[in-house]
Amino acid sequence: MFFLRKRGPITRKRSEHCISRANIDEDALKVLYRLSTEGHISYLVGGSVRDLLLGRQPKDFDVGTDARPNEIRKIFRNCFLIGRRFRLAHIIFGKKVIETSTFRRQPQESEATNGLYQAEDNTFGTPEEDAQRRDFTVNGLFYDIKTFSVIDYVGGLKDLDKKTLRCIGDPNIRFQEDPVRMMRAVKFAARLDFTIDRASRKAILKHHSEILKASAPRVCEEVYRLFTYNKSSEAFHLFWDLTLLKDLLPELDKHIHTSGGKHALLWKILHALDADPSAESASNGLRTACLYYTVFLEQLKHEGAHAGHNKMNLPHASRNALSSIAERLKIPKMTFFTAATILDFQRRFDELPSKNARRFAHFVRHPDFLEALALYRIVQTAQEHDLSKAKAWEAFFNEEWDAAHRHIDEEKVNPESPEAVDPEAVFTVVAEDAPVKKPSSNTRRRSKRRGPPRKEHASDHAPHTGHSEAPHTPSSTPHEHETKRSHHE
Ligand code: ATP
Ligand code: MG
Repeated sequence: MFFLRKRGPITRKRSEHCISRANIDEDALKVLYRLSTEGHISYLVGGSVRDLLLGRQPKDFDVGTDARPNEIRKIFRNCFLIGRRFRLAHIIFGKKVIETSTFRRQPQESEATNGLYQAEDNTFGTPEEDAQRRDFTVNGLFYDIKTFSVIDYVGGLKDLDKKTLRCIGDPNIRFQEDPVRMMRAVKFAARLDFTIDRASRKAILKHHSEILKASAPRVCEEVYRLFTYNKSSEAFHLFWDLTLLKDLLPELDKHIHTSGGKHALLWKILHALDADPSAESASNGLRTACLYYTVFLEQLKHEGAHAGHNKMNLPHASRNALSSIAERLKIPKMTFFTAATILDFQRRFDELPSKNARRFAHFVRHPDFLEALALYRIVQTAQEHDLSKAKAWEAFFNEEWDAAHRHIDEEKVNPESPEAVDPEAVFTVVAEDAPVKKPSSNTRRRSKRRGPPRKEHASDHAPHTGHSEAPHTPSSTPHEHETKRSHHE
């Protein structure tokens, strides 16, 4: 006679794993301990457990508990409940948010209103059900603050060891329920240097076009997340390989095929972006300009053939090159205009800067100058060209910066002077927003710390008054800011 033995989770005791409380955010620990002393199950969940086990620094620490949202609110005075159908608790510590959610389960098929596609999941569940509703096995691990052990209901520990990204459950179903999971698979595989398992890969190749059902803001956000962690080259290559790019950006996909496929210059440009000091602080405008640089070149060739080399209309070429991503991903206006400006500026770097020409001084004060220079440096590096012009421009920028600040210092000595200068206003010539930050004269390492201005992240939704030409259809919807959670989390 057979008895079906109920299989429990795999548990690794403190001595059997590497997670130390010293590596957990102190506010997350406060939340974990408090819930536990109030008698609730209290786990660290999701990406933070995965990253800690891999010895990486987690981006954020999320907590899972059996306490209901109203109970969580009663325990923490600094707690706000968000979400209408599924309520999450945000526990606030200064600028930091520790997201705390009640364990929930995957809605049953009969509860879904739109075939397999799930618009919202909103039913409380057990810790096991909570693990099962997550996307990949390595994202379904828990760290229990009571016993300091790691709890694995989904085989994530084994997959972490094997560096495999595997769907929890049937990937054919999971990707149809939420097609953005396919993009997440690409992102995690590239970021962690993991291999997507065969079944999940096959399912992506089968269901890739479902991605068109996902909302534009979520897709746009995920596309820009492919640039993070200096892995854009791997991520976009996988994205292209798995034919997801063809669905989302068919014009770019076609361009890659006609410009060398896996040998296309685009891959070298993304590789150079990943290695460039500007990568970490790059705006989505610079990222877009990198992605579309070779399309822009093709557009220029096309315009040159029709109008003649000297009559080429650069703004027209850049806007044309970017129109497809603007239309399909509904990228914010500021991203579009920043990318277009950066592309337009490329020609200017062919000339060496000269102190005597006022137009050069004006150019280096443009708020997009440093990112335009970053693209120039990235493209030169990708093509293994000489970097002397890029260095000359950087030196020129530094001289201009120092001269401007000497002037400010002199005026500070005599603040009554009618010519006294507002330091904030200097070096903010064209823009109405962020001032340009000066990079280090010592090119790479130090400029990494300071980086170019990140105005785009701060003001991407503001109308850009400096340009009159409108893009084809960039959205004015504010989705450039990372929403902490999608509706699925
Ligand atoms: P990151 O380091 O980029 O934040 P992460 O794994 O923490 O990676 P999040 O987007 O922050 O990813 O999501 C947190 C957790 O929520 C994931 O680890 C996963 O368990 C779950 N999750 C997020 N999105 C989905 C989804 N679309 N489907 C199922 N589970 C999801
Ligand atoms: Mg996270």
